Amino acid sequence: MIVLGIESTAHTFGVGIIKDKEVLANVKDSYTTEEGGMIPFKAQEHHVKVCDEVIKNALETAGINMKDVDLISFSQGPGMGHTLRVGAMTARTLSIVNDIPLIGVNHCIAHLTIGEELTGAKDTVLLYVSGANTQVIAYEGGKYRIFGETLDMGIGNFLDSFARNMGLGFPGGPKVAALAEKSKNYIELPYTVKGMDVGFGGLMTNLKDKLKKGFDKKDLCYSVQETVFSMMVEVAERALAHTGKKELLLGGGVACNTRLQEMCKQMCEARGCKFFIIENQYLVDNAAMIAVQGKVEYESGKRTTDSTIRPYERTDDIEITWK
Ligand code: AMP
Ligand code: MG
Repeated sequence: MIVLGIESTAHTFGVGIIKDKEVLANVKDSYTTEEGGMIPFKAQEHHVKVCDEVIKNALETAGINMKDVDLISFSQGPGMGHTLRVGAMTARTLSIVNDIPLIGVNHCIAHLTIGEELTGAKDTVLLYVSGANTQVIAYEGGKYRIFGETLDMGIGNFLDSFARNMGLGFPGGPKVAALAEKSKNYIELPYTVKGMDVGFGGLMTNLKDKLKKGFDKKDLCYSVQETVFSMMVEVAERALAHTGKKELLLGGGVACNTRLQEMCKQMCEARGCKFFIIENQYLVDNAAMIAVQGKVEYESGKRTTDSTIRPYERTDDIEITWK
């Protein structure tokens, strides 16, 4: 079965093509800035501009034509309405014009499914750390449950906005990571874990103040990473303890961070759990995972009747037919 997936929840417009379990293409074009953050309508303009080229490129990379595709899958939510609409429109149009079935999937769950498909892991706790989404997700009692999440902004958005305050462009996470490498001087920062949830707002205010006072940026970057990643690892560990699960998976753009990976690995070793990490191209927003998710859902008999976008869709709203 050949599935073409389309991703457009935020900064990335991607087209992924899979044939059964093999990824034939995973092409993307992402909106970036030199300075300042992501403006939704600018990201939308970006997607409209690049979508034809990305589709063409993916088909060429996979060495197939549109008529070879058996299923079209797209990110239905959650995400920014502006950009989701571009992906949904593209998917619907390709589906109608080429008479190919269409399926809409949940972006967050797709991060978990591709991790399990690629690693052979069976029953993971997903620490999902991306731009807007920061959640600990695991399957329990017939649904993917959110065991903990951010109470305010996503960890990636937090890193991006911290970077922006230092005059750096989008995405800021990798820039913070590069500066953090240059320091080992830990400055005490607010650490906010409430039960299973985390918060970054208070820390952001504290950092703005420290930047104004002229604290060293390298030291702040180092300390920020140590603090926020510890918060994430703490709630991930508690989720493993509560569920009794033995596998941890990372997903989302922030999961590319090698310091976070190292901290997760240490925690898993200490608990006797397995830690799975996949290639960066499948951690960040990508369309191969949307194709994989579409395939498993379609094969389980699930069909999409309402293909409108769902910007506020919750992970635990999704009916699970494929487990
Ligand atoms: P996503 O929305 O899942 O594609 O993730 C995008 C987010 O990942 C952005 O906020 C980036 O700043 C962040 N990001 C990407 N690479 C890294 C990295 N190496 N370290 C920290 N954050 C990163
Ligand atoms: Mg994502």
